Amino acid sequence: MSQQYLDTAITYLKGVGPKRADVLNKELGVFKFGDLLSVYPFRYVDRTKFYKIKDIRSDLPYIQLKGKIVSVETLGKVRQKRLVALFKDDTGMVELVWFRGISWIRSGLKPNVQYVVFGRPNIYKGRVNIPHPEMDLVNEKSKTTASALQAVYPSTEKLTAKGLNSRGIGLLIRELMSGMPGAYPEPLSDEILKMANLCSKKEALINIHFPKSTILLNKSQYRLKFEELFFIQLRLLMLRDSKKRNIKGFPFLKVGDLFNQFYKDVLPFELTGAQKRVMKEIREDIGSGRQMNRLLQGDVGSGKTLVALMSMLIALDNNYQACMMAPTEILANQHYQTIKQFVDTLGINVALLTGSTKAAKRRELHESLESGEIHILLGTHALIEDRVKFNNLGMVIIDEQHRFGVAQRARLWKKSENNPPHILIMTATPIPRTLAMTLYGDLDLSVIDELPPGRKEIKTIHRYDSSRLKVFGFMKEQIKKGRQIYVVYPLIQESEKLDYKDLMDGYESIAREFPIPEYQISILHGKMKPDAKEFEMQRFATGKAHIMVATNVIEVGVDVANATVMVLESAERFGLSQLHQLRGRVGRGADQSYCILMTSNELSGNGKLRMETMVRTNDGFEIADVDMKLRGPGDLEGTQQSGTLELKIADIVRDGQIIQYARELATKTLEVDPLLKTPANNRMAAHLAELNKHQKDWSQIS
Ligand code: ADP
Ligand code: MG
Repeated sequence: MSQQYLDTAITYLKGVGPKRADVLNKELGVFKFGDLLSVYPFRYVDRTKFYKIKDIRSDLPYIQLKGKIVSVETLGKVRQKRLVALFKDDTGMVELVWFRGISWIRSGLKPNVQYVVFGRPNIYKGRVNIPHPEMDLVNEKSKTTASALQAVYPSTEKLTAKGLNSRGIGLLIRELMSGMPGAYPEPLSDEILKMANLCSKKEALINIHFPKSTILLNKSQYRLKFEELFFIQLRLLMLRDSKKRNIKGFPFLKVGDLFNQFYKDVLPFELTGAQKRVMKEIREDIGSGRQMNRLLQGDVGSGKTLVALMSMLIALDNNYQACMMAPTEILANQHYQTIKQFVDTLGINVALLTGSTKAAKRRELHESLESGEIHILLGTHALIEDRVKFNNLGMVIIDEQHRFGVAQRARLWKKSENNPPHILIMTATPIPRTLAMTLYGDLDLSVIDELPPGRKEIKTIHRYDSSRLKVFGFMKEQIKKGRQIYVVYPLIQESEKLDYKDLMDGYESIAREFPIPEYQISILHGKMKPDAKEFEMQRFATGKAHIMVATNVIEVGVDVANATVMVLESAERFGLSQLHQLRGRVGRGADQSYCILMTSNELSGNGKLRMETMVRTNDGFEIADVDMKLRGPGDLEGTQQSGTLELKIADIVRDGQIIQYARELATKTLEVDPLLKTPANNRMAAHLAELNKHQKDWSQIS
């Protein structure tokens, strides 16, 4: 019966009605009573604490004052119109300002009685004021605030216009909770509650909205965060397990001639320990008769491509085709060159398919792909077009996964008629472990955490624009030593025109400083035709050009071992993970490499921290951690599309430990009861089913 109450349309809550219901729907996604209960406060204010007016600063959060109104006047005309009340305590005066509902508010303000004012200081023309404060008469205050800690709810202008500011929302929640018939449904099992030492849902809800004490509030927050993360983990693990149970994969039992011959005769170096370990994990997967769904993480230059190639060779050994998809044409090209070279002597037929493959060639390619003549197909998105049909595709490698949408991955999935191919997703953007657990919790994870031997650590240096001449001098020295240099300009979509101009200006100034014929410069940016790009790329790759001036199009994959200097212009405009990716373009050969971060002389705190982090460490995982802390997970590449991160209360950055714990308990639960069929897990099964109803698009990943 209480569930029925929680499922009631919000419009029927006392104090709501159709108009407010409409804004609640649109602004907060609240449709039912239950939805409103999980609009959680984003902060709390201690309402036992009063500020003195003389202590107010504009950078304070919400504060509370006690005093009297001494005057009220309406100022300005039309759009400038505002109501200003002078408010006084025994230490000074401050202006309270309203821009909306002026006449209504004015009629309610009483002079010379004690008010408690609650609001957020603001600065306007050098003077502090408090816009749209909440006003309580001192003797009324005890009625509206039951506890010392008062919840602050997210509100918007549209909600406020309907009287639903933070306080309005709080009142509705109080109304809802006081009308609750019977007990609150408890989604967690008794066992989990006990194991994790959690308070009941009821207690958690009461204290999250109307905390009786800080301790109870903390306990409630913990309980609700755990619940949220626990169900995410349950769902991910069940998804992963059901794939394992239900989706058969081609059993690649043979590690045959091609693989062995490659390993013995072609491979020019010893695999790193990490590469060996990952190969073993992959072989176990693909030999098991189940479909592989694996995410391979490894820093730039850690040797993922080789792992990909060897995995493809196993597919070939078992008479299947393999393909590998890259996010850009340049990168696809590069893979093609590398892999062709490696397998040249093995009699393997490798082909390349990209957007710029000519129609005639394309037709021919389609045919030999369908007949099975082509063994390995490399390419870009062009590879997943419906017209592209394989004879028997057994292995799909997706490089730099974060550039591929979920839907695109799903299309690849369908490229094989009987069983889905094995899938290996590779990413060079290290993802903090806890985030990976949530984003890719349904995939198995392999990590290459070791660089090939003999690499010298890249030296990273931060220089201000004012020392540009010195940097040019350094570049000349390096060129004299026979090395090559990248100079990279940011290209950020919103400011594309400006950036493009920066690039051209930069190119000109470098061309002046490094004149032909002594120096050769190639240039690469997104607006160039594929042919021209290829030409410039080749000029650099073959060593004809000393300097490559480029936008971040070279971000992924380009591999020129002789390039030892990476100059990043306006480095403060790049995000950390991007800086790290770009830096990884050098340091590929045996020579000492350098990354020079050029910034303007004025840096924000955040910008400084990014530069310091880059200078301090080359560890991609450490950088990813700092990046996530600075930006929050919502902005990290690849996370926007996930939907997993629309969390109501948990915070994926700060609650890493709870994530791990939730995953642990979810794993334990499923070990005993994989489908949540036992009576003890009834409630959890029902709750999960309820959650799944609202997450239809969830399971399609990979
Ligand atoms: P990633 O794709 O992870 O960025 P690559 O596969 O492109 O890295 O490898 C970077 C470079 O290191 C390549 O030139 C590759 O030939 C070389 N390499 C890979 N594995 C090893 C190894 N075990 N020992 C020495 N060099 C290696
Ligand atoms: Mg790579």
